[in-house]
Order: sequence, then C-alpha cells, then structure tokens
Amino acid sequence: MSKRTYTPPVKEIKYLRISLTDRCNFVCPYCRSEKFSTPKGFEITADHIERVVKVFSQYGLKTVRLTGGEPLLRPDIVEIVKRISLYGVEIALTTNGFFLKGLAKPLKEAGVKRLNISLDSLKEDKFRYITGGGDLNRVLEGIAEAKKVGFKSIKLNTVAIKGFTEEEIDDLLNFAAEGGFHLRFIELMPIGKLPFYSEDRFLPLDWVKNYIEENYGKLEPLDRSGSGASKDFYLPALKLKVGFIKAITEPFCEGCSKFRLTSDGKIHFCLRLEESFDLKPYLDDENKLRSVVGKLLELKTETNAFITKNGFGWFAENSKMVALGG
Ligand code: SAM
Ligand code: SF4
Repeated sequence: MSKRTYTPPVKEIKYLRISLTDRCNFVCPYCRSEKFSTPKGFEITADHIERVVKVFSQYGLKTVRLTGGEPLLRPDIVEIVKRISLYGVEIALTTNGFFLKGLAKPLKEAGVKRLNISLDSLKEDKFRYITGGGDLNRVLEGIAEAKKVGFKSIKLNTVAIKGFTEEEIDDLLNFAAEGGFHLRFIELMPIGKLPFYSEDRFLPLDWVKNYIEENYGKLEPLDRSGSGASKDFYLPALKLKVGFIKAITEPFCEGCSKFRLTSDGKIHFCLRLEESFDLKPYLDDENKLRSVVGKLLELKTETNAFITKNGFGWFAENSKMVALGG
C-alpha cells in the first residue's frame, strides 16, 4: 500500500498546550525520573504567556490547555488564567490534583472551563507508588472540590499500565460514574529514555475496552470532539462517558493542529519528534511574535507531512514528558 505523501497545510494555530513549568511535586515513573535534575533556568512569565495568547488569538487560537510539570505549582497560576481569558480562548487545565482543594474556586472564577485530572489508582498504596509518594486522599479532596465549585467538564485521565491498571478499572469506572466525571484511558507512550518503559508494561486499550464490554455491556460510540485524540463512548450500564487515547495502537496524527509551548520557551510540533523552534527571542515583543507565526505554521505543516510519510512507529527519545506537558 502506498503511503499518502500530501498533507494539507496547517493554516491556523487553533490549539496550544502551554507547559507552565517542568517542575512537579510527583514523580510518576512513566513521565519523569528523579535522575532528571530540573534546571532552575528560564521559565516563561505571565507576560510572555499573555503575549503569546494575544498574538496567536489573531491567528485562529481557540483553545489553550495549561499543563506542566504541575501547573498549579506556579504561584501566578490564577493571574495567568485571568490574563489569557481576555482573548476569547477556551481555557482548559491538566493537573495532578494535589493543589486543587484550595485552587479550584479561584481557577474557575478566573476562567478555566475544563479540567483534566490524572488518576491512575484509587488504592492508597498503589497511588503512592505510581506518583512517587503522592497522597491519594488529598487528590480526591481536590477532585471533590472541583466538582463542588461547579466545573461542568471534569475528565479523569488514567495511564494504562499492564500489571497495574487491570485491577483498577472497576473502581475507576464506579468512581467516575458516581461523581459524574468522564473517564479516559491513555496508552503508555515511551517518551524519553525512562527506565520504567518496557514492552511488558504496555497495556493496549483494546484490552481495557474489551474488559469493560465483557463486564458492563456494550460501549456506544460518541462523535469525536475536541482535539480528536480521544475516542469517546457512552456506557449505558453506568451512565458514564469513557474515552480511549490510543497513541500507540491507533495513532491520531492525521490533520494534527496541536502546538506545544514549553516552559523554557520552545514550540514543539509533535510528541514523536525532538525538533522544536526557540520562541524565546520573540517572547518580549508582540510584533516579533507576529512575524514568526508564518514560520510556525510552515514547520507544523512540514512535521505533519514527515509523520504521514514516515509513519507513527516512534516517540521522541530525548524529550521529557514532564517538560512537554502530555
Ligand atoms: N502534572 C499534570 C498531570 O499529571 O496531570 C500535568 C502534566 S502531565 C505530563 C499530563 C498528562 O500526561 C497526564 O495525564 C499524564 O498522565 C500524562 N502522561 C505523562 N507521561 C505519559 C506517558 N509516558 N504516556 C502517556 N501519558 C503520559
Ligand atoms: Fe508530574 Fe504529571 Fe508527570 Fe506525574 S504525570 S510526574 S504529576 S507532570
């Protein structure tokens, strides 16, 4: 079968993930390892972030997802949200939930519309293991607070790990159903050379889907929405929305228009490639930022063409998920 070599040009920066910091209070072994010392170097400021969002909003920006590292470690997180909410973009946030208890309300008031919270286990000891010492109860309190203050869309993200996740599925489904959350499973991506990755830790999401259907009945497909990474289903038995992000077994790269800004000021075009564009020299000036948008669109188009031509069989080995922001 011949590979398609033409990919349509990317004409807008519709979706931007901003990694606010590469620092984190957790050490999930699939994302970072203590061996990485986090450099206390340059970190994008609230001014930079506002400027980028302002300029990109003139080039089609619709959604900004704030991520990290742990974005709630930024003392100016609420200010950042307030400032970028002035530009008509939808603001989403991905967090490990640890600091949510005190921050859910101010974040909602500042303009965060959608929350993704990572939750790999509902058993205290397993949660502690998979987060490198995290406190499950505190995260659950954060989730409850987010619900209480009225977030309409709360998604729980679970990375699927063989030998770990299988016995979590029932608890996670029931927890999500009781709370009215949307549960999403993510295939483990081998980004960066972390000792945790090995083939026998990979759990294909077809396994998880089959398990759910065998035990809870048919999953009904829902229309794709958002960035298109997740295939979403409705589970009538639990009145629950379940999503599958099959980054490995069913890559969703076609037509990708995601841009990532890392906390050291670089634009990344794809989780699969190391290449990035250093935006740092442009961050202090709106006109300079405007002048570089065309180049970014061109590089994104080239990245999509490269991926389409060369396939989806690898991930960036020398990048770090904790820096890229997922
Ligand atoms: N600290 C926040 C959190 O954990 O939600 C935000 C940053 S984290 C890098 C963003 C998302 O990436 C989380 O849902 C996390 O589970 C996911 N993630 C991290 N490493 C991953 C990997 N190797 N494969 C798949 N998902 C990963
Ligand atoms: Fe931190 Fe999130 Fe990575 Fe876990 S997944 S180490 S919480 S950045």
